[in-house]
Amino acid sequence: MNIAQIRPMDVANGPGVRVSVFVSGCRHACPHCFNREYWDFNYGEPCTETQIQSILTLLDKPIIAGLTLLGGEPLQQNLTELASFLKRIKKESRKSIWLYTGYVYNDLHLQKEVMDVLQWVDVLVDGPYLEAEKNLRLAFRGSENQRLIDLHQTRLKGEISLLNI
Ligand code: SF4
Repeated sequence: MNIAQIRPMDVANGPGVRVSVFVSGCRHACPHCFNREYWDFNYGEPCTETQIQSILTLLDKPIIAGLTLLGGEPLQQNLTELASFLKRIKKESRKSIWLYTGYVYNDLHLQKEVMDVLQWVDVLVDGPYLEAEKNLRLAFRGSENQRLIDLHQTRLKGEISLLNI
């Protein structure tokens, strides 16, 4: 898994001030993609122990609410590596984790490897960005089809539960 960019203080991709990690590589090819340079899985730097340590150091600051993972497409990475990365982030930082994907949750939730990743995620922002459904008033997402899925409540209730923000 390569990392394209780390934003140490981001207020656009989830509540509060967050550390945002953009992974490299995406095969969705959305027509209005705003991160085309991140389609290449070789873009950026490999996610090494040094990178993980610096992410944990950033997350340790009291002002930081959590980590947001986006890209690229996080769920097209090596999912075993991604699950172990997120497990470590969750256990060592104890902060919230948001993950943005171009997939729709309904198509993902029966895939064991994906669920091994999502067990460490608090909120999943799902669905591709669709220009036809663009809405600038939406919180933390660009188009109406994208949802903020509360994965704790979803797991608890056995049905998709959305965040009310
Ligand atoms: S999922 Fe995101 S990164 Fe991938 S093509 Fe679509 S907008 Fe671009």
